[in-house]
Amino acid sequence: MTSLSSSAPIPVDLEGAIQRLKKERNAVVLAHYYQESEIQDVADFVGDSLELARRGTAAKETVIAFCGVHFMAETAKILNPEKTVVVPDLEAGCSLADGCPAPLFAEWLERYPGHTVVSYVNCSAAVKALSDVIVTSSSAEVILKQIPDPVVFAPDRNLAAWVEKRLGRKFVVWPGTCVVHETFSERKLVELMALHPDAEVIAHPECEERILKLAGYVGSTSALLKYVTASAGRSFIVATEEGILHQMRRAAPDKELVAAPPDESCSCNTCPHMKRNTMEKLYRALEGLSPAIEVPEKIRLRAKKPIDRMLEMTAGLALEPTGNRS
Ligand code: SF4
Repeated sequence: MTSLSSSAPIPVDLEGAIQRLKKERNAVVLAHYYQESEIQDVADFVGDSLELARRGTAAKETVIAFCGVHFMAETAKILNPEKTVVVPDLEAGCSLADGCPAPLFAEWLERYPGHTVVSYVNCSAAVKALSDVIVTSSSAEVILKQIPDPVVFAPDRNLAAWVEKRLGRKFVVWPGTCVVHETFSERKLVELMALHPDAEVIAHPECEERILKLAGYVGSTSALLKYVTASAGRSFIVATEEGILHQMRRAAPDKELVAAPPDESCSCNTCPHMKRNTMEKLYRALEGLSPAIEVPEKIRLRAKKPIDRMLEMTAGLALEPTGNRS
């Protein structure tokens, strides 16, 4: 291995340099579906947060370069304490995770003794450590079916409302939202549907009810990708972070894919946190093996229990990332 340095200039062939550093550092690069397309293309595996954490565990490499947001890399570290987990940008946060700080959450939970605490994976390690079971958008319904009331659900109120509706139940809900998924405009979506009368609207359950009610299919990011690929439909309006369109176009190049419109004439359907990561920062992270994610051991062990419980409760559920490598 060459010496770790961050002072050298960025190489012109960034992709080639990243591929070389992956070998030198014995690293696997994992990228979330919401990353820039060039990061998705250089990654070994592309998927949602849980798929990637599991892929990190299965990888033989000793270094995981996690291109996503902070809580995702933390989850990878919780499951892989013996591996070095680096991120391109330590400041890449998430409005859901950041909007549910652990000390406030602990205080709030005191009001609900006897409740099972179910937390969406989009939360910090410290919040996971206060939870009984973790869910993802693809596993929330399956897991909550197995848990009797009373239930506290955090931190996404839209995902909670979606599962409440599906199961005909009510939970005590922490009122968090995703800045990206709450931005879609119902009015503009209706206009877009009129322009594309044959297109089916598909949406992520982090979207608000007013958007979900217009969707023919609601599912996690991975489920939306699979749906577009397998469906006989030819045209889709996609209401989630626009980064997923890259994998959809790769998997189903013959289909028409239209991004659902945000409320203003902005790029609000692009996650600003995810897009903090760049190829340059990924190169630097691999070069210097920094910034690295650390989780205090006491918190890690407490946070791992509800994640393990989720894995047990979803043992039969297929969770396959998209591979650039088999
Ligand atoms: S898209 Fe929303 S939920 Fe996902 S990382 Fe960005 S802010 Fe968080």
